[in-house]
Amino acid sequence: MKKSLVSIAVLFSLSSYASVKIEEEFYVMGQNPEVIKDLAQAGSVEIDHVTSEGFEVYGPKGLSKVLSERSLPFFDMKSILKSALADYPSHEEITRKLKAAEAKNPKIMKLFSIGKSVTGKDLWVMKISDNVNTDEVEPEFKYISSMHGDEITGRELTVKFIEEIAQTYGTNQELTDLVDNTEIYIMPSMNPDGSERKQRANANGYDLNRNFPDISNRNGNTITGRQIENQHVMKFQASRQFSLSANFHGGTIVVNYPWDSTYDRHPLDGFIKELSLGYAELNPEMRSSREFAGGITNGADWYVVKGGMQDWSSFFYNDLQVTVELSHAKWPRYDDIPGFYQSNRESMIYFMKQIHRGAGFKFNRPGVAGTVHVKQTSPVAKDLGSFAFNSSEFFKVMPEGQYSFSITENNKSVRNLEVTVDKDRIFKDGNYLVID
Ligand SMILES: [Zn+2]
Repeated sequence: MKKSLVSIAVLFSLSSYASVKIEEEFYVMGQNPEVIKDLAQAGSVEIDHVTSEGFEVYGPKGLSKVLSERSLPFFDMKSILKSALADYPSHEEITRKLKAAEAKNPKIMKLFSIGKSVTGKDLWVMKISDNVNTDEVEPEFKYISSMHGDEITGRELTVKFIEEIAQTYGTNQELTDLVDNTEIYIMPSMNPDGSERKQRANANGYDLNRNFPDISNRNGNTITGRQIENQHVMKFQASRQFSLSANFHGGTIVVNYPWDSTYDRHPLDGFIKELSLGYAELNPEMRSSREFAGGITNGADWYVVKGGMQDWSSFFYNDLQVTVELSHAKWPRYDDIPGFYQSNRESMIYFMKQIHRGAGFKFNRPGVAGTVHVKQTSPVAKDLGSFAFNSSEFFKVMPEGQYSFSITENNKSVRNLEVTVDKDRIFKDGNYLVID
């Protein structure tokens, strides 16, 4: 045992944890808590999707040697994916589908690129809202998929979802209400280069879900030195006012909620669990999971991830985010996609609707920026933290209760607001208090 530990340490000592370059990737079969602990401690490798069946491990050249020395049964995941059926749409075909949806209903759909991938592919985002060309005062929601390029199911489901909204707006009342009262942003593919190559990492070999700022450094929310796809998403996030979001992955079936990087509990832990359970309950396979009770898990309790998007977005912004694992196969048969859409469609709609649980404020003047300190006063007293706002608007997703907002504009306190969140307010006026 000792010998293997030493070889792990020597092998991986040259690169730092935050910049793991993925050169080898394997699936290790069986339950191996000791090995997982050793590998995690050695740093420079990533462990993912730990279940009773086994786990994935990603790392530099030499990883296979370490696994062999330990006589572990493992196989190369790349070889599996290379042989996967190739009938999925290309990036160009996805682009055409998105443009077609926009053309079908341009009053509610606006397609734009937030920048280009390493090899120059557009990172598309579809904005969906009534009066789509106007920045209205409405809660802002987002879905981002497939930052792991080989986890393809979410890309297909989000494109299908966009197509369904484009087709049924005005006839499907539930979706129409959502579109009319929300600013929805959907990014089907954060890593188009990875998907083209059927690989987890981007074209530079980096895992984008380990490349966001780690929340242990409060001043570390900077784009310097990060992969270009992360930089574009970070700038996009800073330019908007998202208050609820999810990112889609594959490899198992579960909703994973914050935090990923610390065993501390999120101040809204019970509420996040409720939203996660709500997603899982509407998905038959997820809710009956034998691996995860109720189809949900706390991130760190499952396995610790640093530099992930979920914690970054939930910590540095007023943007509560969960991670949804959609399918056991990362790259399922293309014929299976409609089935996955059917089993996630209701969940996707449910989760979006939850953004209307909460409260906010808007200034009558344009361009106001500042911070707001949010405290829950009833049913329990709880400090929910300080959040920046811009564009004269702020909305926070919160459970039913009483809250106080202490709003600071240009470093001077301007207003204390007492707000009530109650369940019946969804889609009703009055979710935003008006400030002169
Ligand atoms: Zn993933």
